[in-house]
Amino acid sequence: MALQFQESILLPPSLTKIGFQLRVLGSGSSGNCSLISHQDTHVLVDAGFSYKEIDARLQQFGVEAQSLTAVLVTHEHGDHIRAAHTLSRRLSIPVFTSEGTYDTALREKKLYDWVEVFPGRSFQLGAMTFHPISLPHDASDPVGFRIECEGRVMAHMTDFGYVSGLVRESLRDCDLMLLEANHDLELLRNGPYPWSLKQRIASKLGHLSNDAMLEVLQEVAHDRLEHVVFGHLSDTNNNAQLLRAQIRQTLRRIGLPELAFSIARQDRIHDVIEV
Ligand SMILES: [Zn+2]
Ligand SMILES: [Zn+2]
Repeated sequence: MALQFQESILLPPSLTKIGFQLRVLGSGSSGNCSLISHQDTHVLVDAGFSYKEIDARLQQFGVEAQSLTAVLVTHEHGDHIRAAHTLSRRLSIPVFTSEGTYDTALREKKLYDWVEVFPGRSFQLGAMTFHPISLPHDASDPVGFRIECEGRVMAHMTDFGYVSGLVRESLRDCDLMLLEANHDLELLRNGPYPWSLKQRIASKLGHLSNDAMLEVLQEVAHDRLEHVVFGHLSDTNNNAQLLRAQIRQTLRRIGLPELAFSIARQDRIHDVIEV
């Protein structure tokens, strides 16, 4: 044991592995955008704000838009795809989407390049391996991502109505997760939305409720999980304070009271998280 300890402290910095970073530019029902980076590879997952807003928020992180490698769009809803074509054209970078997303929203747009994403088929950007995971949502072939880099694992999943077996499996063994916590069922039920919209949100092709998210968290959380970010909160049908209390209660119950978590905001960037 003593020898191992000595070896680890003598390891030159150049040989220690550099983790990868998640920068959430913003997340909520009206705009979603995250930057996932490793060394010089900077991949945007969703582009649900204007180009100007994305550029401004990247600058708050000290990242130049010109350094982006690619834009991955999970599905065609406006809160995810808004600036994808503008980013692609102005920065000469490819947009990665499923064929369904491309056909629905991008075929008519001018893109620098489009790369088709197939659920179940991984692809590589720099040292990061992206695994597209099919999600149950009312869009055309929507996906979420499990991303692996030098032995570290991150999951980035929003916009799904229920936790399928596939999603559950892809959330296991993660070091970092960004998970949807869209609505509180009571707030949705008693809120101002028309009945048809309430039904759509709560359906199997809608959005994940706090309860459903807590249930899966309870199942997949483990003691090496470093941080969970909760995102895509509805302004109307959720309450961050209430959610925070529910998360704490769940973490205490499963014996992980120290697990770091945070709630991403729509109106501002989230601190950088590195794993
Ligand atoms: Zn959506
Ligand atoms: Zn969305």
